[in-house]
Amino acid sequence: MCGAPDLDRVIIRAVSEHERFEQLIAFIGSQLPGPVDQQHAGDGSMVFTGGAPAEVVVNLADASVIVSEYAGIWESADRFVVRPRRVGMLKWRRLPETSMMNALSALIKGAREMRLSRYRPCTVCGTKHPPEALFGDDVCYSCEEPPHTVVH
Ligand SMILES: [Zn+2]
Repeated sequence: MCGAPDLDRVIIRAVSEHERFEQLIAFIGSQLPGPVDQQHAGDGSMVFTGGAPAEVVVNLADASVIVSEYAGIWESADRFVVRPRRVGMLKWRRLPETSMMNALSALIKGAREMRLSRYRPCTVCGTKHPPEALFGDDVCYSCEEPPHTVVH
C-alpha cells in the first residue's frame, strides 16, 4: 500500500512533462515564421525550420532547446551545406513556463532579425534575396539564367 502514492506521483509527473513537451512543440510552431518544416533528428530531438527561404532553426531535445539563425555555404557550385548559427540554448525544464517561453520567443525573434538583415537586393531585378541565393555580382538565380528564347 505504501508504494501506491509514489507511483501515482510518478505517473502524474510523467504526464505533465509530456504535456509540457507537446506544449513547447505547439509554441515553437506558433513563434516561427511560416511555413514551418518539422523533422525528427536521428538523436530523437526535433528540428523545426521556419520561413521560405528558411530563416530560423529550432532544435528541441529532451532537456534543451537550441535556437539558430539559418545559414549555409556553397562548398562547390552544386553543393550547399546548411550551417545554422546558434544564438542561444535554453534548459527548458529548469525555467518556469512563462520565463522559458518569453526567452524562447526573444531568441527566435533575434535570430530572424539577424537572418533578414543579411538579405541583399539582386543587382538586376532588385528583389531581396538571402546571401546564398545571390551569385557573382549579387545576381539572383532567375536573373542569372540565360533568357529563354522561343524557336519557331
Ligand atoms: Zn534578380
